Amino acid sequence: MFDIQPIVKLAKGERVMIAGPCSAESREQVLETASQLFSLEKISLFRCGIWKPRSSPTYFEGHGMKALSWLREVQKIHAVPVCIEIASAKHLEAALQHDIRNFWIGARTTVNPFVVQEIAEAAQGTDVAMMIKNPISPDLRLWIGAFERMSKAGITKMAAIHRGFSTYEHSVYRNNPLWNIPIELKRLHQEIPIFCDPSHMAGKKEYIFEIAQKTLFLDADGLMIEVHAHPEQSLSDKPQQITPLEYHQLIGKLSIPLPGEKQDIQLKRSREIIDELDRDLCGILAKRFEIVADIAAYKKGKNISLLQIERWQQVMENVLHQCEQKQMNKAFMQKLMEVLHEETIKIQEEILKKLE
Ligand code: PEP
Ligand code: MN
Repeated sequence: MFDIQPIVKLAKGERVMIAGPCSAESREQVLETASQLFSLEKISLFRCGIWKPRSSPTYFEGHGMKALSWLREVQKIHAVPVCIEIASAKHLEAALQHDIRNFWIGARTTVNPFVVQEIAEAAQGTDVAMMIKNPISPDLRLWIGAFERMSKAGITKMAAIHRGFSTYEHSVYRNNPLWNIPIELKRLHQEIPIFCDPSHMAGKKEYIFEIAQKTLFLDADGLMIEVHAHPEQSLSDKPQQITPLEYHQLIGKLSIPLPGEKQDIQLKRSREIIDELDRDLCGILAKRFEIVADIAAYKKGKNISLLQIERWQQVMENVLHQCEQKQMNKAFMQKLMEVLHEETIKIQEEILKKLE
């Protein structure tokens, strides 16, 4: 259990709303986005990246130090705290000199314990807030490890940001949500607020609403959304940024569960895990059938018969052995494997017919 204090003070039932551009591109772009946003919506923190982790050094990598003063201006004009991404102790120290005290650790940094440790040590003795994005890889232990490092350095204002994961299996979204991971984080550490970043998860603005709604139904404590005064001109993450007006409309459409509706949340979370496992199951079966089809073509080429009873017996034995280890019902598994085998033979027969 971590000692956690809220990053922002909220009224009961309110969520932490974080919005702002992916990157600070110019003083004008930052100030214009902020004033449009604040004229339409009340937000908790204005986000803006100034050091951008990009895949290629030929892409826009942010204005760095120069942009710190633009963000200090936003804080002064609108009296709303700003948050930025930091990826080194040097970033943290420079930001503190510009009165910026709210940070997030990006997904590409959370994966690196050396850097997280260095940032934690630089933050020791300050009152900064640290939001920790999930690591790029689906590794809950590593995500929790970053909280442990911050906590050991005495940081208490902390939250997690779920922005999805890079996985071998592609999801329709830019980053695979793998909802079971933040749900497991919540089960292990109820005290950690979890915000969702539907922008980086979606990768495209048309998916932001559905993700934001889902995460609120799963009881997210906040949202971080990328908003740009002119998304079509943005220098990073163009397809996923929305205008301040679109943000305002999106917030208006969201149904935000009241604290009294919390009794359903456990059920919703468990159902989400079941849906995710079912999706995985379909993916695994589809892959199995693909390999079955390759084998059929190979057998045809070598003139080998379709059904090889010893191989089938061996498959069944392997599965039943694993079933025993996992303490599952063997009779059920046998039935399931027989149905699978029947379908396998059917697929192979169809392939053979096509190749004739
Ligand atoms: C960002 O928030 O701009 C960012 C780069 O995020 P992530 O670390 O989630 O990719
Ligand atoms: Mn971005």
